[in-house]
Amino acid sequence: MTDRYAVLGNPIGHSKSPRIHALFATQTGQDMGYEALLAPLDGFAATVAEFVAAGGRGANVTVPFKEEAFRLASRRSPRAEAAGAVNTLSFGNGEIVGDNTDGAGLVRDLKTNLGCELAGRRILLLGAGGAARGVILPLLEEQPARFVIANRTAEKAARLAGEFTGETAKRGLIPLQGGGFDDLAGMSFDLVINATSAGLSDTALPLPDTAFAPGSLAYDMVYGRETHFMAQARRAGCRVADGLGMLVEQAAEAFFLWRGVRPQSAPVIAALRQG
Ligand code: NDP
Repeated sequence: MTDRYAVLGNPIGHSKSPRIHALFATQTGQDMGYEALLAPLDGFAATVAEFVAAGGRGANVTVPFKEEAFRLASRRSPRAEAAGAVNTLSFGNGEIVGDNTDGAGLVRDLKTNLGCELAGRRILLLGAGGAARGVILPLLEEQPARFVIANRTAEKAARLAGEFTGETAKRGLIPLQGGGFDDLAGMSFDLVINATSAGLSDTALPLPDTAFAPGSLAYDMVYGRETHFMAQARRAGCRVADGLGMLVEQAAEAFFLWRGVRPQSAPVIAALRQG
């Protein structure tokens, strides 16, 4: 019987995950199906239970259920624990195992696809929501020289940075700084990652141009549109990337967890860019 997988979210119609996993399955010769499931806002756990009862082997989880998936998991990977959110579930032996592949996906896109070294670099992360939280530890593990989080609600960034104090001290990683956009005066960075959803509402961020060091990379997690952040970074002379590579890489990591086979991402990213 063909193994069943799904992505659960609300809304879900726009999701590229079914196409990505279908391309991975064809490429690696895996016998599996992957569908998009709309879970009611108050019915995430019930939708998961139904899918498991129908033979589902694993699921990706997207907005707004990543925190609920974290609570639903009977066991969680260390990176899911660090992120406080789960985007990949595996079902078997009566267990629901939760993982988070977003951070690994971003780091792989930066290093492998974009050739961006992270060790010794100054990183600025914009945003303090779920996406930002999920990528902090994987980025810190790459040993940057400096790591600053800036958010519209400055206290949220400060609180988020504070949450990692124990973990960074324990592992000998550099301490994080968190605050507002005003606190960025006089600082510049080699990599600026936009993990806010400002691009989705076509809003500009109050980011000073001086945040971009000469030759820096500006990375927007949003994909499929030119955001104000991307336009500003281009004007400042930066190299610019969108989040499509991260989307495909987090999917590749989930595929690897489920199937034990690592698909090639580059041809899938290229296929998605072609439309
Ligand atoms: P959340 O809703 O959890 O967080 C949103 C963040 O954006 C908050 O920090 C919020 O600031 C900030 N924000 C929202 N609107 C504005 C604005 N107009 N100006 C300044 N800041 C703003 O969202 P997520 O963290 O889950 O997702 C963030 C983005 O990342 C989304 O666009 C999502 O599509 C993308 N993403 C992409 C992935 C990929 O694979 N490429 C994976 C995961 C996410 P405040 O705290 O002040 O409200």
